[in-house]
Amino acid sequence: MAEITLRRRQTIAEGTVAFYFDKPAGFTHEAGQNAMFTLINPAEDDASGPTRPFTIASAPHEPELMIATRMRASAFKRTLAAAPLGTRLEIEGPAGVMVLHEDAARPAVFLAGGIGITPFLAMARDAAKRRLPNRLVLFYSNRRPQDAAFLAELERLEGPNFRLIATMTDVPDWPGEKRRISRELLAVHLPDLREPVYYFAGPPSMTMAVQGMLKDLGVSEDDMRSEEFYGY
Ligand SMILES: Cc1cc2nc3c(=O)[nH]c(=O)nc-3n(C[C@H](O)[C@H](O)[C@H](O)COP(=O)(O)OP(=O)(O)OC[C@H]3O[C@@H](n4cnc5c(N)ncnc54)[C@H](O)[C@@H]3O)c2cc1C
Repeated sequence: MAEITLRRRQTIAEGTVAFYFDKPAGFTHEAGQNAMFTLINPAEDDASGPTRPFTIASAPHEPELMIATRMRASAFKRTLAAAPLGTRLEIEGPAGVMVLHEDAARPAVFLAGGIGITPFLAMARDAAKRRLPNRLVLFYSNRRPQDAAFLAELERLEGPNFRLIATMTDVPDWPGEKRRISRELLAVHLPDLREPVYYFAGPPSMTMAVQGMLKDLGVSEDDMRSEEFYGY
């Protein structure tokens, strides 16, 4: 357990805020991992208590730790939204399996629903910084562009090793993909559906649907890594 200090916050999409903290001395993590964040003596509490898991959306080389979340009415989020800069929280971790596999010959396919983008942002930033040879393909599904946190940055990160397919399911005149993440959508953009290692994160309805889809495609459990962001 270590203490971290809230340094700044920034609205990054509609109803969506990034929180930046000092990184405690000696803290290291791998891109895509998460940690438990605990409010210290919060002014209000509810049945879910003062602790939440969040993905560390910043990459390991960055000097700060950043998390990004949809603001909701829970006591935890109300408290975090109102916390003065300088507020201290406890952090426990890192933990989690959302880290890039080693075999660079196999592409990684990231399937993100809404705020489920956080582990993939960290991995994309990390891969760019370290010039990793791994091929990464990110399918990023949102209702509308204004809901899609970090969309402009992800577009800028596109290159020979990183492809972004941003799909907007509620925007009839969106120039790109409008389909939800599905077998058909993957098949249009991936030459071989069995080759990649798949990573997916988002609200439970999305992760359950994606898991079923991948199973139907014959993808083995070993080639799926996921995180369910319950609470949405
Ligand atoms: C590994 C991991 C990484 C995450 N990363 C992010 C992130 O980067 N950004 C983000 O916004 N959110 C992330 N989440 C979800 C986050 O922890 C919150 O649950 C979510 O943001 C909703 O918070 P809330 O305070 O509004 O609701 P909460 O009070 O957290 O939860 C609302 C509902 O979820 C139920 N619930 C609480 N805990 C559990 C549990 N353990 N299992 C099943 N149901 C439960 C509650 O009973 C309640 O009904 C992550 C979750 C996990 C597990």
